[in-house]
Amino acid sequence: MRITRIEPFILHIPVTGGSISDSTHRISHWGVVGAKIVTEDGLEGYGFTGTHADIASDRLITACIRDCYAPLLIGEDASETTRLWIKLARHPALQWVGRAGITQLALAAVDIALWDLKAKAAGVPLWHLLGGATKPKLEAYNTDIGWLSIPKDELVEGARMAVERDGFRRIKIKVGHADIGTDLDRLEAVRRAVGDHVTMAIDGNGKWDLPTCKRFCARAEALDIFWFEEPLWYDDVGSHAALARSTSIPVALGEQLYSVDAFRSFIAADAIHYVQPDVTRLGGITEYIQVAELALAHRLPVAPHAGEMSQVHVHLAYWHQATPLLEYIPWIKDAFAEPADVTDGYFLRPQHPGAGTTPTADALSRYAETLA
Ligand SMILES: [Mg+2]
Repeated sequence: MRITRIEPFILHIPVTGGSISDSTHRISHWGVVGAKIVTEDGLEGYGFTGTHADIASDRLITACIRDCYAPLLIGEDASETTRLWIKLARHPALQWVGRAGITQLALAAVDIALWDLKAKAAGVPLWHLLGGATKPKLEAYNTDIGWLSIPKDELVEGARMAVERDGFRRIKIKVGHADIGTDLDRLEAVRRAVGDHVTMAIDGNGKWDLPTCKRFCARAEALDIFWFEEPLWYDDVGSHAALARSTSIPVALGEQLYSVDAFRSFIAADAIHYVQPDVTRLGGITEYIQVAELALAHRLPVAPHAGEMSQVHVHLAYWHQATPLLEYIPWIKDAFAEPADVTDGYFLRPQHPGAGTTPTADALSRYAETLA
């Protein structure tokens, strides 16, 4: 398992319909930015983080992998994931400039590639390597029908189709208009269309302030909202705690948090009900496990955020006992040897050895961007 070569890559893959937006972001492609790690016996592991396909910042990530992490990894035993995570994450010069942002996204990609190698070497899917599946079926919720950029009529029809045609029992709708009445009107229309038995979560992507959230929640409670995701600015523990005290709607967050320490702060303040770690923003699988176990110890459910469109999280979710459901967005699945796919509202359990991160040869040639 000695590492001999590390090759960064950048893929830009189109999103559904050519463009989507939420309250904060508008994107046309999803960035799959990471590295292939090769061992002396010819085994290839793949890992990546997820970006908005901004080529300049994507190249900062691949430069960090190539120039900062690769020299620390060449010659190492790829199977020693914990020791290598500490070597990279706690390397004094990188710790000084890192622990969040570019260095952490790059670390996530590298750590995932090492776990992919370890699972491939063992000849088993990642969920099996971690300890086996703790549930026979894993429920999916559909985010791709609920973008803020979708007009109300299409939103309602898309939600209805997701439920009646595709078998989803859980959906998520974006909110965050300047006028909260617009969001309430859209949510009421969706609730009428899908009925009372479908789980409807909402996601504000950190747009609103505390008074706006309080006003909105007071009116939204009647719609049986499953959770309110990122209601407030991502790092604001105190305001999330205040909102959690003031409404019966559960608070969900975590997709913008970079470390287990950040999750600990939210949990300690009773500011979070659904814990949403993202393996591509934390320092990979090694740190994700810490967050999932922290949530389990507090008896809080884990609902991962799909920065890798659930290619890796489907393994982590089938394995981890506190994870009852997983986000589904179908943008990049067909770029992988084993797509993270859903049938009748449930994720298929991966069967291939590895972490689900191996791109197809076609995707590598069709979507590749230059590194410099
Ligand atoms: Mg979100």
